[in-house]
Amino acid sequence: MSDPDREGLRSVLRTVEGIRTSDGAGVALTRILGSPELEMLDPFLLLDEFRSDQPGDYIAGFPDHPHRGFETVTYLLAGRMRHEDNQGHAGVIEAGGIQWMTAGRGIVHSEMPEQEDGLLWGFQLWVNLPADRKWVAPAYQEFPAAAISVEERDPGVSIRVITGTTASGTAGPVTDVATEPLYMDVTLDEHAAMEEPVPSSHNGFVYVYEGAVTVQGSVVEAGTLAVLGDGERVRIVGERASSRFLLIAGRQLQEPVARAGPFVMNTRQEVMDAFQDFREGRF
Ligand code: FE
Repeated sequence: MSDPDREGLRSVLRTVEGIRTSDGAGVALTRILGSPELEMLDPFLLLDEFRSDQPGDYIAGFPDHPHRGFETVTYLLAGRMRHEDNQGHAGVIEAGGIQWMTAGRGIVHSEMPEQEDGLLWGFQLWVNLPADRKWVAPAYQEFPAAAISVEERDPGVSIRVITGTTASGTAGPVTDVATEPLYMDVTLDEHAAMEEPVPSSHNGFVYVYEGAVTVQGSVVEAGTLAVLGDGERVRIVGERASSRFLLIAGRQLQEPVARAGPFVMNTRQEVMDAFQDFREGRF
């Protein structure tokens, strides 16, 4: 007998904890997605968490480097990051703010901490672009904390919606993304539950960064990414006084992926062309 309450609910397919590494000019971070443990989850290519109050872990930042063929999404929980590109765009991402950058055909930018001490804590997610969007002009969607809707749904359920729309109709400020993603930052009290539709065309995951939650009988502790199995919705229950996690999902592209460093294309030749274009100053 099938239980209609549980029909279509996604379970946890597998969990990964990521690896400690460094990137840029020497920024200590945890690579949760995009490591040998879990190379990608179509359309997501990478998820890094950086979290340190030791300036030596972050002060070197990410000086000038290129990107082509995908989107980089920076979400800060604490601290400030200055962003500048080679096409005249600059700004500072502050705590609670989001920058959704579509690199498209190419950009050279720097991402540097706008602080000399204190806590810097946030995430960078890489989202692939479909083949027919890899050559679009670079574009930004940037919003400070105050522009991000917070849904206080039930007692003990608080959902910050960066992109996508919740079951209750709260919409995030980031729109018109090719892979129709959901990106929600959720806080649950102990025993509080949230249920959200996640379209069956989408791959999805939960990354817990404080406390612990249960997804369909599987406990997911802080520092763990849980890949969601098939289904149409997800139900997540808080297991601590305050548990916080990202719920992220996106439409699978099911296209060939050729990637090397900061370039994500469909063929090896396109990646080699990207290196050559960058060397010869065509970004
Ligand atoms: Fe970058």
